[in-house]
Parts: sequence; structure tokens; C-alpha cells
Amino acid sequence: MDCIFCKIVRGEIPSNKVYENKNFFAFLDIGPVNRGHTLIIPKKHYKNLLEMPEEELKGYMEAIQKVSKAILQGVNADGISINMSNEPAAGQVVMHAHFHIIPRLKNDGLKLWPQSRYKEGEAEEIKNKITNSLE
Ligand code: 5GP
Ligand code: ZN
Repeated sequence: MDCIFCKIVRGEIPSNKVYENKNFFAFLDIGPVNRGHTLIIPKKHYKNLLEMPEEELKGYMEAIQKVSKAILQGVNADGISINMSNEPAAGQVVMHAHFHIIPRLKNDGLKLWPQSRYKEGEAEEIKNKITNSLE
């Protein structure tokens, strides 16, 4: 498949591999937020988390935890942020599922996103829309 991350898994594009097992592959992000910023991907091509079959998810989370612990210790970080963008509207640029595992340092100055407040009654309305959509 003509996908940059599939090519990385196949070794057709070089990467700094951090970890791999039968189903997952982790490598340094080419543009790190902090040193040690790692991407962890399923070896099979899925567009993003929303398209992954349930049977892949347990192994994915186990691999994420394993790599997160190694990053924390390996680069002597103070914490770990884990992020995934699903769909371009959420900032997904590479259309092969990937979690970002980002080592965090005290006072690294990174801010996530600005927050807002719900208006009166709005939170209940939104909560109902979500719970009514659960499959
Ligand atoms: P997204 O914005 O889709 O969540 O993140 C894509 C990430 O892939 C970016 O952080 C970008 O730096 C990284 N990336 C894109 N192309 C390559 C590549 O060829 N090699 C590596 N190691 N990382 C890449
Ligand atoms: Zn792919």
C-alpha cells in the first residue's frame, strides 16, 4: 500500500525503531515535540482508531504502555502525554492509525487546548446526544 507508515513498517523508508512485536511498531517521530516523541502504529493499515477492530485494541494498549514506560525511563522524563488525532478535522495528517507518545518534562511549557464552559442545560443535552449514539 502506498502509505508512508506502511512503508516504514516494511523498512522501505528508514526510521528509528523503538519497539516492534507481531502486530505493532513504534518509531521516533521525525518532528519531535520533546526528545523521545514516539509514534506507535498497528502493522496492518487502518485509517485510525475509529476503524480498528476490537480484537486489535487490547494489544495496542499493552504496547502503548510498554513503550511509554521505556520512554519515561529512557529519556528520564517526568510524565507522558498520549495523543491521537482521528480524521483531518482533528489534525490527522498521516492516514494510518498512530498514537503519539510524548515525554513530558516539568516546565516544558507545552499547553494542550483551550477550554470553555457549558451554558445552563447544555451539558445534559450534549450528554444525551452522545449516550443515545452509543452502539
Ligand atoms: P498526525 O498529525 O497525523 O497526528 O501526525 C503525523 C506525525 O507523523 C507527525 O508528527 C510527523 O512529524 C510524523 N511523520 C510524518 N512523516 C514521517 C516520516 O517519514 N517519518 C517519521 N519518523 N515521522 C513522520
Ligand atoms: Zn498504512
